[in-house]
Amino acid sequence: MARLAFAVLAAALVLPASAGAATTPEELERGGLRDIVVIREPGLTSAERTDLRADADVDHVRMLRVTNAEVVRAEDRGLADALAALQADPDVVVAAPDVVLSTNATNDTYWNYLWGLENTGQTIFTPGTADADIDGPEAWATSTGSGAVVAVVDTGVDVAHPDLVGRTVAGYDFIARDAVAEDIHGHGTHVAGTIAATRGNSTGIAGVAPDAKVMPLKALGDNGSGSVSGIVEAFDYAGDNGADVVNASLGGPGSGSVTTLFQAVVAQHPNTTFVISAGNSATNNDVDPYFPCNTPGANVLCVGATTSTDSPASFSNYGATSVHIFAPGENIASADAGTSGYVFMNGTSMAAPHVAGAAALLVGKDPSLTGSEVRGYLMAGVDAKPSLTGLTATGGRLNAANALALVPAPTPDPPAPTPTPTPTPTPTPTPTPTPTPLPVVPTPVDDAPDEDDDEDSEEDEAEEDEESTPPPALPVRRKGSTSLCRIGCATRGFEVRLTLPSAASIRTVYERRVCKGKGCTWVAVASRTVAGRSGANTVKVTTKVGGKRLGRGQYRVTLSVDTDAGRRSGRVGFTVR
Ligand code: CA
Ligand code: CA
Repeated sequence: MARLAFAVLAAALVLPASAGAATTPEELERGGLRDIVVIREPGLTSAERTDLRADADVDHVRMLRVTNAEVVRAEDRGLADALAALQADPDVVVAAPDVVLSTNATNDTYWNYLWGLENTGQTIFTPGTADADIDGPEAWATSTGSGAVVAVVDTGVDVAHPDLVGRTVAGYDFIARDAVAEDIHGHGTHVAGTIAATRGNSTGIAGVAPDAKVMPLKALGDNGSGSVSGIVEAFDYAGDNGADVVNASLGGPGSGSVTTLFQAVVAQHPNTTFVISAGNSATNNDVDPYFPCNTPGANVLCVGATTSTDSPASFSNYGATSVHIFAPGENIASADAGTSGYVFMNGTSMAAPHVAGAAALLVGKDPSLTGSEVRGYLMAGVDAKPSLTGLTATGGRLNAANALALVPAPTPDPPAPTPTPTPTPTPTPTPTPTPTPLPVVPTPVDDAPDEDDDEDSEEDEAEEDEESTPPPALPVRRKGSTSLCRIGCATRGFEVRLTLPSAASIRTVYERRVCKGKGCTWVAVASRTVAGRSGANTVKVTTKVGGKRLGRGQYRVTLSVDTDAGRRSGRVGFTVR
């Protein structure tokens, strides 16, 4: 069995879990701050001022218009010592760290460390470049990922971490084969934090999609590796259980039948975007294939890592064809499993969750987006960087705000392909000569049907619309609950079974009950035609039809078959909650 291993290149620094802002000189120094504002006693000569700076081991940066004031700069990692020396100097009235105040997007303790979201040029181990970031706060003005579910196929997730509490939905452990996907290793928790850590709780960090939910799927064991079988199962589970996005920060070299296996699984879930890390061996994936990143598929994104200066990270794999996009992946601060704290990590494992979070932002704006649409917008929205030319298909680094701006604002309700509903019932129904337009039957307001009512009403409703000599209703039987849930749960579909005397096309039309004022009508929202065979047939009804996800509400699905005796229809009602 092939084993997948990913490299967590560094756990460079564990940050304290304290919820207070970084205000001590030591904390500010660790965050990269070096500048100090100094107000001197009046009347110092130029030589005395030079001595004053030399004694504290600082350099002059600029004069301030405030009387007797200047900005000085300490050595790298020298802020605390320099401040102490200046404050002890009798010629100094005040020496204060030149802390950055801004319209911070969040009050999270370590916001300043999240250069990937907002890079002001701050030093996080190394000096950054302003705006070498994914424009996180700009994106949040449009979407925070509310309603989106991101499956984290990894080592599990610490769901009790203070920045992940309430941010997760039920997951699964494909190694222990139970529903608790706890994270002993820590990698999955770090990834989950980058995707969806709570924003604005005065604690730790903020995720790229801070209102999205994480579905922890444990397919890597506590040693950080797992078999292909468990990983493809997790991919499939995610797609079947409402995950809009899958993050897979894992992989290994290889090609051939294993890649074909992943290709088959992702093709079964076209409405899910699979975001996969490119690998950390600084090799060309076009030449040395890396899986599952090299999986062919319109809904697969392979992600390399950039630094805070928009350079490719030294460890990152690349590929002009096989790697689609780069994203921040060096010196990334995120949640530390089991400690309530935070830790910096490096790797394409950290880059992929930036892209997965951005994908969730897009889904938050328009839940009906397919995986290939999400990929297309993310790739089209990159900031092109000369440093990435030839290393990735886009030549660019993720920009979440740009990608979001490319997504058209969704219409509030899916447009009906049929004529506009008539507001009042007509006593003599007009026969519809052609089969395509759907009769719209105004329906009085009533309580939501329970499941037993559905069965009784199927034949009644089917007969209402027929002409004077209606063919018999098409007997349909359902299997499974008709109370479906939209996200983060298992009840997302049921089966309709019907028997046909001969092969025929089965047309399924989904209608949603729309109520305005006192009247309610059924409005067609989607339709599909499937090939039916002679004998028993099973048609699946799910909350996603033709790439569109059905919103919450009351629905009915009508199955129709044209026969010599005319059109025969059967109907099942269901609700999406
Ligand atoms: Ca920016
Ligand atoms: Ca937080």
